[in-house]
Amino acid sequence: DICVLGSLNMDLVINVEKIPAIGETILAQDFKKVPGGKGANQAVAAARLKNRVVMLGCVGNDDNGNILVENMKKDGIETKYIKTIKDIPTGIALITVDSLGNNTISVYAGANMNIKEDDIDSLKDVIINSNIIIAQFETPVETTIKAFKLAKEHGKITILNPAPARRIPNELIKLSDIIVPNETETEIITGINPADDEKIKTAAKSIIDKGAEFVIITLGSRGAAIVSKDNYEEIAAYKVDAVDTTAAGDSFIGGIASFLSKKGLSFDILCSAVKFANKVSAIAVTRQGAQSSLPYLNEVYEKYGE
Ligand code: ADP
Repeated sequence: DICVLGSLNMDLVINVEKIPAIGETILAQDFKKVPGGKGANQAVAAARLKNRVVMLGCVGNDDNGNILVENMKKDGIETKYIKTIKDIPTGIALITVDSLGNNTISVYAGANMNIKEDDIDSLKDVIINSNIIIAQFETPVETTIKAFKLAKEHGKITILNPAPARRIPNELIKLSDIIVPNETETEIITGINPADDEKIKTAAKSIIDKGAEFVIITLGSRGAAIVSKDNYEEIAAYKVDAVDTTAAGDSFIGGIASFLSKKGLSFDILCSAVKFANKVSAIAVTRQGAQSSLPYLNEVYEKYGE
Protein backbone atom coordinates (compact mmCIF):
# COMPACT_ATOMS: atom_id res chain seq x y z
CA ASP A 1 0.00 0.00 0.00
CA ILE A 2 0.97 3.60 -0.54
CA CYS A 3 0.43 6.08 2.27
CA VAL A 4 0.26 9.78 1.35
CA LEU A 5 0.71 12.33 4.11
CA GLY A 6 -0.25 15.68 2.67
CA SER A 7 -2.60 18.46 1.70
CA LEU A 8 -6.12 18.54 0.36
CA ASN A 9 -6.98 21.89 -1.24
CA MET A 10 -9.91 23.18 -3.22
CA ASP A 11 -8.53 25.02 -6.26
CA LEU A 12 -10.59 28.09 -7.16
CA VAL A 13 -9.58 28.82 -10.73
CA ILE A 14 -10.49 32.16 -12.31
CA ASN A 15 -9.76 32.81 -16.00
CA VAL A 16 -9.10 36.41 -16.94
CA GLU A 17 -7.87 38.30 -20.02
CA LYS A 18 -5.12 39.94 -17.99
CA ILE A 19 -4.12 39.46 -14.33
CA PRO A 20 -5.40 42.52 -12.42
CA ALA A 21 -2.93 45.07 -11.07
CA ILE A 22 -3.02 46.11 -7.40
CA GLY A 23 -6.24 48.05 -6.77
CA GLU A 24 -7.77 47.00 -10.09
CA THR A 25 -11.07 45.13 -10.43
CA ILE A 26 -11.81 43.20 -13.61
CA LEU A 27 -14.51 40.88 -14.91
CA ALA A 28 -13.42 37.28 -15.31
CA GLN A 29 -14.26 34.99 -18.27
CA ASP A 30 -14.65 31.75 -16.35
CA PHE A 31 -14.56 30.18 -12.89
CA LYS A 32 -14.13 26.58 -11.80
CA LYS A 33 -13.80 24.87 -8.46
CA VAL A 34 -11.56 21.80 -8.80
CA PRO A 35 -10.08 19.33 -6.28
CA GLY A 36 -6.35 19.82 -5.73
CA GLY A 37 -3.61 19.96 -3.13
CA LYS A 38 -0.30 18.23 -3.77
CA GLY A 39 -1.01 15.43 -1.30
CA ALA A 40 -4.45 14.65 -2.70
CA ASN A 41 -3.19 14.88 -6.29
CA GLN A 42 -0.39 12.42 -5.60
CA ALA A 43 -2.79 10.04 -3.85
CA VAL A 44 -5.20 10.15 -6.80
CA ALA A 45 -2.31 9.66 -9.25
CA ALA A 46 -1.17 6.51 -7.42
CA ALA A 47 -4.73 5.17 -7.00
CA ARG A 48 -5.46 5.49 -10.73
CA LEU A 49 -2.31 3.44 -11.39
CA LYS A 50 -3.99 0.57 -9.51
CA ASN A 51 -2.51 0.85 -6.05
CA ARG A 52 -4.17 0.72 -2.68
CA VAL A 53 -3.72 4.21 -1.31
CA VAL A 54 -4.42 5.65 2.12
CA MET A 55 -4.59 9.41 2.63
CA LEU A 56 -3.52 11.17 5.82
CA GLY A 57 -4.36 14.85 6.23
CA CYS A 58 -7.00 17.32 7.37
CA VAL A 59 -9.97 19.18 5.95
CA GLY A 60 -12.32 21.72 7.51
CA ASN A 61 -15.91 20.98 8.46
CA ASP A 62 -17.25 22.59 5.28
CA ASP A 63 -18.50 21.89 1.76
CA ASN A 64 -15.03 22.04 0.21
CA GLY A 65 -13.77 19.45 2.66
CA ASN A 66 -16.68 17.13 1.94
CA ILE A 67 -16.28 17.47 -1.80
CA LEU A 68 -12.55 16.72 -1.60
CA VAL A 69 -13.00 13.61 0.52
CA GLU A 70 -15.91 12.28 -1.57
CA ASN A 71 -13.85 12.86 -4.68
CA MET A 72 -10.96 10.80 -3.35
CA LYS A 73 -13.35 7.98 -2.45
CA LYS A 74 -14.35 7.79 -6.12
CA ASP A 75 -10.81 6.68 -6.89
CA GLY A 76 -10.98 4.05 -4.16
CA ILE A 77 -8.66 5.89 -1.76
CA GLU A 78 -8.97 5.05 1.95
CA THR A 79 -10.15 8.35 3.44
CA LYS A 80 -11.22 7.30 6.93
CA TYR A 81 -8.06 8.66 8.56
CA ILE A 82 -8.56 12.17 7.16
CA LYS A 83 -9.36 14.42 10.14
CA THR A 84 -12.12 17.02 10.01
CA ILE A 85 -11.13 20.19 11.86
CA LYS A 86 -13.81 22.41 13.39
CA ASP A 87 -13.71 26.17 12.81
CA ILE A 88 -10.79 26.13 10.37
CA PRO A 89 -11.61 26.13 6.65
CA THR A 90 -10.40 23.50 4.23
CA GLY A 91 -7.25 24.62 2.41
CA ILE A 92 -7.80 26.61 -0.76
CA ALA A 93 -5.69 27.75 -3.69
CA LEU A 94 -6.83 30.93 -5.43
CA ILE A 95 -5.55 30.60 -8.97
CA THR A 96 -5.83 33.37 -11.55
CA VAL A 97 -4.95 32.40 -15.11
CA ASP A 98 -4.57 34.94 -17.93
CA SER A 99 -5.24 34.43 -21.64
CA LEU A 100 -1.59 33.44 -22.23
CA GLY A 101 -1.73 30.76 -19.55
CA ASN A 102 0.33 32.73 -17.01
CA ASN A 103 -0.91 32.40 -13.46
CA THR A 104 -0.72 33.74 -9.92
CA ILE A 105 -1.52 31.38 -7.06
CA SER A 106 -2.24 32.15 -3.41
CA VAL A 107 -2.58 29.13 -1.15
CA TYR A 108 -4.31 29.27 2.23
CA ALA A 109 -3.27 26.12 4.08
CA GLY A 110 -6.18 26.26 6.56
CA ALA A 111 -6.99 22.83 8.00
CA ASN A 112 -3.93 21.28 6.31
CA MET A 113 -1.69 22.59 9.10
CA ASN A 114 -3.63 20.57 11.69
CA ILE A 115 -2.11 17.18 11.08
CA LYS A 116 0.16 17.18 14.12
CA GLU A 117 3.04 15.08 15.44
CA ASP A 118 0.71 13.53 18.04
CA ASP A 119 -1.58 12.26 15.28
CA ILE A 120 1.22 10.04 14.04
CA ASP A 121 1.00 7.99 17.27
CA SER A 122 -2.57 6.96 16.50
CA LEU A 123 -1.73 6.45 12.80
CA LYS A 124 1.21 4.15 13.54
CA ASP A 125 -0.48 1.01 12.20
CA VAL A 126 -1.54 2.73 8.99
CA ILE A 127 2.03 3.77 8.31
CA ILE A 128 3.64 0.46 9.13
CA ASN A 129 1.05 -1.43 7.08
CA SER A 130 2.07 0.54 3.98
CA ASN A 131 5.28 -0.09 2.09
CA ILE A 132 5.76 3.46 0.85
CA ILE A 133 5.09 6.82 2.45
CA ILE A 134 5.05 10.09 0.49
CA ALA A 135 5.01 13.65 1.84
CA GLN A 136 5.32 17.23 0.55
CA PHE A 137 5.62 20.65 2.18
CA GLU A 138 1.96 21.70 2.31
CA THR A 139 1.55 20.09 5.75
CA PRO A 140 3.67 20.60 8.91
CA VAL A 141 7.25 19.46 8.48
CA GLU A 142 7.55 18.20 12.10
CA THR A 143 4.71 15.77 11.40
CA THR A 144 6.50 14.50 8.29
CA ILE A 145 9.71 14.01 10.28
CA LYS A 146 7.86 11.96 12.88
CA ALA A 147 6.06 9.87 10.23
CA PHE A 148 9.26 9.23 8.24
CA LYS A 149 11.13 8.27 11.42
CA LEU A 150 8.48 5.67 12.16
CA ALA A 151 8.49 4.49 8.55
CA LYS A 152 12.27 4.07 8.48
CA GLU A 153 12.24 2.16 11.80
CA HIS A 154 10.00 -0.33 10.02
CA GLY A 155 11.97 -0.52 6.79
CA LYS A 156 9.50 1.42 4.62
CA ILE A 157 10.41 3.50 1.57
CA THR A 158 10.10 7.26 2.17
CA ILE A 159 9.63 9.74 -0.69
CA LEU A 160 9.83 13.48 -0.08
CA ASN A 161 8.57 15.94 -2.69
CA PRO A 162 9.96 19.23 -1.30
CA ALA A 163 7.19 21.41 -2.71
CA PRO A 164 6.40 24.24 -2.34
CA ALA A 165 10.12 24.93 -2.13
CA ARG A 166 11.75 25.58 1.20
CA ARG A 167 14.92 24.49 2.92
CA ILE A 168 14.75 20.83 3.99
CA PRO A 169 15.68 20.22 7.63
CA ASN A 170 18.79 17.99 7.76
CA GLU A 171 16.95 15.50 9.94
CA LEU A 172 14.32 15.04 7.23
CA ILE A 173 16.92 14.66 4.46
CA LYS A 174 18.44 11.75 6.41
CA LEU A 175 15.02 10.11 6.81
CA SER A 176 14.19 10.38 3.08
CA ASP A 177 15.14 7.54 0.74
CA ILE A 178 14.21 9.57 -2.33
CA ILE A 179 13.90 13.34 -2.62
CA VAL A 180 12.15 14.60 -5.77
CA PRO A 181 12.45 18.34 -6.44
CA ASN A 182 11.70 20.13 -9.71
CA GLU A 183 14.07 22.71 -11.19
CA THR A 184 12.93 25.71 -9.11
CA GLU A 185 12.82 23.66 -5.92
CA THR A 186 16.34 22.38 -6.65
CA GLU A 187 17.59 25.93 -7.04
CA ILE A 188 15.95 27.13 -3.82
CA ILE A 189 17.15 24.11 -1.83
CA THR A 190 20.73 23.97 -3.17
CA GLY A 191 21.39 27.41 -4.67
CA ILE A 192 22.23 25.68 -7.97
CA ASN A 193 20.12 26.05 -11.11
CA PRO A 194 20.13 22.54 -12.67
CA ALA A 195 20.71 23.86 -16.19
CA ASP A 196 23.12 21.16 -17.44
CA ASP A 197 24.41 17.70 -16.44
CA GLU A 198 27.22 19.02 -14.30
CA LYS A 199 24.95 21.36 -12.39
CA ILE A 200 22.29 18.66 -11.94
CA LYS A 201 24.95 16.36 -10.50
CA THR A 202 26.40 19.00 -8.18
CA ALA A 203 22.98 20.05 -6.92
CA ALA A 204 21.79 16.48 -6.33
CA LYS A 205 25.09 15.47 -4.70
CA SER A 206 24.78 18.34 -2.24
CA ILE A 207 21.49 16.82 -1.04
CA ILE A 208 22.88 13.27 -1.04
CA ASP A 209 25.87 14.42 1.02
CA LYS A 210 23.42 15.42 3.73
CA GLY A 211 22.01 11.90 3.92
CA ALA A 212 19.37 11.21 1.25
CA GLU A 213 19.99 8.00 -0.65
CA PHE A 214 18.57 9.05 -4.03
CA VAL A 215 17.62 12.35 -5.64
CA ILE A 216 15.42 12.61 -8.71
CA ILE A 217 15.36 16.08 -10.25
CA THR A 218 12.41 16.55 -12.58
CA LEU A 219 13.29 18.73 -15.55
CA GLY A 220 9.93 19.50 -17.16
CA SER A 221 9.96 18.73 -20.90
CA ARG A 222 13.60 17.55 -20.54
CA GLY A 223 12.55 14.58 -18.38
CA ALA A 224 14.29 13.69 -15.13
CA ALA A 225 17.71 12.86 -13.69
CA ILE A 226 18.33 10.12 -11.11
CA VAL A 227 21.34 10.56 -8.87
CA SER A 228 22.87 8.47 -6.09
CA LYS A 229 26.30 8.62 -4.46
CA ASP A 230 27.86 6.57 -7.27
CA ASN A 231 25.41 6.72 -10.16
CA TYR A 232 23.86 9.20 -12.54
CA GLU A 233 21.24 8.71 -15.23
CA GLU A 234 19.16 11.14 -17.21
CA ILE A 235 15.94 9.95 -18.84
CA ALA A 236 14.27 12.03 -21.53
CA ALA A 237 10.60 12.97 -21.35
CA TYR A 238 8.16 11.87 -24.07
CA LYS A 239 7.55 14.44 -26.80
CA VAL A 240 3.96 15.60 -26.47
CA ASP A 241 1.94 18.77 -27.07
CA ALA A 242 1.58 19.97 -23.49
CA VAL A 243 -1.60 21.97 -22.86
CA ASP A 244 -1.49 22.29 -19.06
CA THR A 245 1.41 21.20 -16.86
CA THR A 246 -0.55 21.54 -13.59
CA ALA A 247 0.08 18.42 -11.51
CA ALA A 248 2.90 17.22 -13.81
CA GLY A 249 5.08 16.77 -10.75
CA ASP A 250 2.27 15.15 -8.76
CA SER A 251 1.55 12.63 -11.52
CA PHE A 252 5.28 11.87 -11.67
CA ILE A 253 5.46 11.18 -7.91
CA GLY A 254 2.39 8.93 -8.20
CA GLY A 255 4.14 7.05 -11.01
CA ILE A 256 7.37 6.58 -9.04
CA ALA A 257 5.55 5.38 -5.91
CA SER A 258 3.40 3.01 -7.93
CA PHE A 259 6.40 1.39 -9.60
CA LEU A 260 8.46 1.04 -6.42
CA SER A 261 5.51 -0.33 -4.50
CA LYS A 262 5.61 -3.36 -6.79
CA LYS A 263 9.37 -3.66 -7.37
CA GLY A 264 11.29 -2.39 -4.33
CA LEU A 265 14.16 0.10 -4.41
CA SER A 266 17.56 0.21 -6.10
CA PHE A 267 19.22 2.60 -8.55
CA ASP A 268 18.25 0.41 -11.53
CA ILE A 269 14.67 0.01 -10.35
CA LEU A 270 14.51 3.78 -9.90
CA CYS A 271 15.58 4.29 -13.51
CA SER A 272 12.75 2.02 -14.67
CA ALA A 273 10.40 3.83 -12.30
CA VAL A 274 11.33 7.15 -13.92
CA LYS A 275 10.68 5.72 -17.39
CA PHE A 276 7.22 4.73 -16.18
CA ALA A 277 6.59 8.06 -14.39
CA ASN A 278 7.58 9.94 -17.56
CA LYS A 279 4.78 8.10 -19.38
CA VAL A 280 2.24 8.96 -16.70
CA SER A 281 3.24 12.64 -16.68
CA ALA A 282 3.37 12.86 -20.48
CA ILE A 283 -0.34 11.99 -20.51
CA ALA A 284 -1.15 14.34 -17.61
CA VAL A 285 0.36 17.38 -19.37
CA THR A 286 -1.76 16.82 -22.48
CA ARG A 287 -4.92 17.32 -20.40
CA GLN A 288 -6.41 20.25 -18.50
CA GLY A 289 -6.48 20.52 -14.74
CA ALA A 290 -4.90 18.79 -11.76
CA GLN A 291 -6.76 15.62 -10.74
CA SER A 292 -8.79 15.69 -13.94
CA SER A 293 -5.57 15.21 -15.94
CA LEU A 294 -4.26 12.15 -14.06
CA PRO A 295 -4.34 8.97 -16.18
CA TYR A 296 -5.47 5.45 -15.31
CA LEU A 297 -3.02 2.55 -15.66
CA ASN A 298 -4.79 1.16 -18.74
CA GLU A 299 -4.46 4.54 -20.47
CA VAL A 300 -0.71 4.55 -19.78
CA TYR A 301 -0.35 1.01 -21.18
CA GLU A 302 -2.53 1.77 -24.21
CA LYS A 303 -0.51 4.85 -25.09
CA TYR A 304 3.04 3.73 -24.26
CA GLY A 305 2.96 -0.04 -23.74
CA GLU A 306 3.83 -1.92 -20.57
P1 ADP B 1 6.49 20.28 -11.69
O1 ADP B 1 5.12 20.07 -12.21
O2 ADP B 1 6.64 19.89 -10.26
O3 ADP B 1 7.07 21.62 -11.98
P2 ADP B 1 8.10 19.23 -13.89
O4 ADP B 1 7.67 20.40 -14.70
O5 ADP B 1 9.56 19.02 -13.72
O6 ADP B 1 7.43 19.20 -12.44
O7 ADP B 1 7.45 17.93 -14.57
C1 ADP B 1 7.43 16.67 -13.95
C2 ADP B 1 7.51 15.59 -15.02
O8 ADP B 1 6.41 15.75 -15.92
C3 ADP B 1 8.75 15.65 -15.89
O9 ADP B 1 9.82 14.96 -15.28
C4 ADP B 1 8.26 14.98 -17.17
O10 ADP B 1 8.23 13.58 -17.02
C5 ADP B 1 6.81 15.45 -17.24
N1 ADP B 1 6.64 16.66 -18.08
C6 ADP B 1 6.54 17.94 -17.65
N2 ADP B 1 6.39 18.80 -18.68
C7 ADP B 1 6.40 18.03 -19.80
C8 ADP B 1 6.30 18.30 -21.20
N3 ADP B 1 6.16 19.55 -21.67
N4 ADP B 1 6.35 17.24 -22.06
C9 ADP B 1 6.49 15.97 -21.61
N5 ADP B 1 6.59 15.66 -20.30
C10 ADP B 1 6.56 16.67 -19.41
